[in-house]
Amino acid sequence: MSVSVPPPRFLSLKWKIILSLSLVLVISNAAIVMFTDSRAQEQFRIEQRQSMQTLFQALNKQLEASNANLGRVASLVSLLDAEQLPAGADLRQRLRHVLDLHSATLELEWDISMVRFIDSSTLNAFPAPNPDDLAEVLYQLARQAQTGGSQAAALVCQPECYQYIATPLIDQSGSGVLLVGRSIADLVLEFHRIHDARLAFLVPPRQGPDASLVERWQLDVAAVSGAQQGLPLLQAFANHFSTRQLAEAPRLMRYEGDWYLGQLATGRADNNLRMMIFPVSDAMHKLQGNRQTTIVISLAGLLLAESLMLLFLWQPMKRLRSLVSVLPGLGGCSDDGVGELPNPRKGAYLVNDEVDLLANSISELGQNLEASCRARDEAEQHLLWLANHDPLTNLYNRRYFQQQLEQMLGRALRYQRHGALLYLDLDQFKNVNDLSGHRTGDSLLQQVAALLRKNVRDTDLLARLGGDEFAVLIPEGDQEAAEATAKKILQRLKSLTISDDSHAHRVSASIGIALFPRHGANVGDLLANADLAMYQAKEAGRNRYYLFSASDQAREYLGLRTRFQEKINRALEHGGFFLQYQPVLNIREEEVVRHEVLIRMRDEDGTVVPPDRFINVAEQTGQIREIDRWVVQQALESLQEQPALRLAVNLSGAVIVDPQMQAWLRENLPKAGLRPGQLVLELTETAMVSNIVGAVELMRDMHSLGAEFALDDFGSGFASYAYLKQLPVDYVKIDGSFIQGLATSEDDQLFVKALVEVAHGLGKQVVAEYVEDAQTLDILEHYGVDFGQGYYIGRPGSDLVQQVPFRPPGNAV
Ligand code: C2E
Ligand code: CA
Ligand code: CA
Repeated sequence: MSVSVPPPRFLSLKWKIILSLSLVLVISNAAIVMFTDSRAQEQFRIEQRQSMQTLFQALNKQLEASNANLGRVASLVSLLDAEQLPAGADLRQRLRHVLDLHSATLELEWDISMVRFIDSSTLNAFPAPNPDDLAEVLYQLARQAQTGGSQAAALVCQPECYQYIATPLIDQSGSGVLLVGRSIADLVLEFHRIHDARLAFLVPPRQGPDASLVERWQLDVAAVSGAQQGLPLLQAFANHFSTRQLAEAPRLMRYEGDWYLGQLATGRADNNLRMMIFPVSDAMHKLQGNRQTTIVISLAGLLLAESLMLLFLWQPMKRLRSLVSVLPGLGGCSDDGVGELPNPRKGAYLVNDEVDLLANSISELGQNLEASCRARDEAEQHLLWLANHDPLTNLYNRRYFQQQLEQMLGRALRYQRHGALLYLDLDQFKNVNDLSGHRTGDSLLQQVAALLRKNVRDTDLLARLGGDEFAVLIPEGDQEAAEATAKKILQRLKSLTISDDSHAHRVSASIGIALFPRHGANVGDLLANADLAMYQAKEAGRNRYYLFSASDQAREYLGLRTRFQEKINRALEHGGFFLQYQPVLNIREEEVVRHEVLIRMRDEDGTVVPPDRFINVAEQTGQIREIDRWVVQQALESLQEQPALRLAVNLSGAVIVDPQMQAWLRENLPKAGLRPGQLVLELTETAMVSNIVGAVELMRDMHSLGAEFALDDFGSGFASYAYLKQLPVDYVKIDGSFIQGLATSEDDQLFVKALVEVAHGLGKQVVAEYVEDAQTLDILEHYGVDFGQGYYIGRPGSDLVQQVPFRPPGNAV
């Protein structure tokens, strides 16, 4: 069972390229964006850390400056003008006096919110310090100053943040430490104003109503810049980060749409923690803006790259697709070629690419395929043509002819129509092949074909059935039409000659005619009967047509031959043969000088059978040797009986290659004691020429025995003056077909005249047979022909008369 596989889904190469490219670009762009972003963030962090550091440094500097300032102020306090100081006042009293005097200045101008003097004795008597107690812290500071002998400073947030300076004082009246304190609230505000940074001082929690506790850190806010905004911001940081986190590094936080950076630092030797918060929204926005810009740029680059890729790929891919769609069509050869071929120039730019190469290749391939398709078509056409035609003559062949005949026969039977079939066989065509070679034979067949084509109607069907056999099918043709066509063909064939260097062949044919459906209701019968009729025409002496007759039907060719073979045997055994003699006239002397011996066969029913009917068969069966021997025997006997007698005897061509017959002749001719001119042996030119050497030898032999030779039927198969010279014949017998129409045919006249000249030039005498009228005899005499023979002079008969003067029939006594 076959499993149908669904066709794989199609995704254009360009999309594959673009998709994978997109993937790569997206990843690489993202990496670039992330890298630059992390670099930017890193940079940002470094910058913010530096800013934070700077801020803390600034704070410390400001605190130090403030301390120094306070220290100077504290030093000045003891130097303030003490007017009207009571005499004998000690250091404490003097200071009180001064402070009282200048309290406004101290508080308003110098921003000193606390002044306190502790004398040395009090300081020394003070118990162990309590770190939670501000007083204790201050005592501690004072003691530090006293023991160090110089100013000591501290920032103490308890609960509010103050800067304190302890200055040791000493004079004649005593010693002590002056403590001066100043709130850092202004400093914090000032810092905020200058640096736009919020600052908070945080301390461990204490109980109290106004304590603002940062719960998560468990720290109290001692001071903060911009308490209204500052506190919530601080709370937010506390919610996000632990104190440890904030002490480690600056931390970033978003609060109410703005970004803030915060860090925690411990004051040196102080009890407080300082929280610095400053807004970084601008920087953050810049950072984010940069990031967005990078993303936008990389996205734009991505899009641009893909659009370009698409732009570049679109057209080539379109072409590729169209090229691909052409390919399946290239496989088959349809009637209109291999289909639309890609135009290699179409879409070709100045510079070619792979697609152009592909287009070129496909176009080339297509052209090649088209050419081979054409060649195949032509070959097919030719094969088709060959199936129905004969390549030599271009006529239809037997196969096609039989098909057509069958159809026509079918129609004829169905619709009571009729037609005629001519079966044509060239006479003695074999000789042409044997003597002049196959090329001449082929050429002859072509000429015959051309001639036939010219002499049949367009509606007739002409075919070469094989060898030298042709057929003409005449639709609607009756006996009259068929005979007219046959006559015309035979007549025209006469004018056809073909020659090579040494031979000129005349052409004739035997035509059998069969009518249908009268002479055959199927193709086989009809052809066989036409063939039989043709054979009858041959039997009747060739160069004629024969209409099939139903009575002949029984006598089929082979049967005919075997019957004749039997007849010949019977005739040989039981004296069925007899001889007739036809007079030969010496034209100039007007005297019968010789007789030609012609054989006849008496049939069982007494009818006389002419030699044309059985010589052929006898030649084929070999019986001809016995016949010839018998005839020669008879002739020799006659010559012995009548020494004045002169005879011409026909010999078959077989004698030339028959040593037994030759031996017999050599033995029997001398016995007859021949006198010169008493015996003429007639051999056809065809027989002689087929074995020239043998013929010449035989003739020399026979000459030496006193016999003469005649070249019979000269001109029927060929006319070769060259052979004439070679053959030692005494007589040349012009074939009767040249003589019968001599009075009317200029061609024949030319031929006869020329032959007489040549033959005489070679010392040979000329005999004309078939002299049928006085006019012909006159012409022959005029041409100088030596002998005449024919019905006008005398028909073959049984009388053997010695040389008699010729009396024309009309003048018969
Ligand atoms: P062929 O040797 O050319 O003999 C001449 C033939 O022409 C004879 O036919 C003769 O009857 C015929 N004839 C004579 N005068 C005329 C005429 O004016 N008009 C016409 N139309 N015909 C004329 P036949 O006797 O039927 O002999 C036919 C052929 O048979 C001979 O042709 C010859 O080739 C062969 N033949 C005859 N007798 C013998 C024979 O004894 N031995 C051999 N081997 N062949 C023979
Ligand atoms: Ca003869
Ligand atoms: Ca003859």
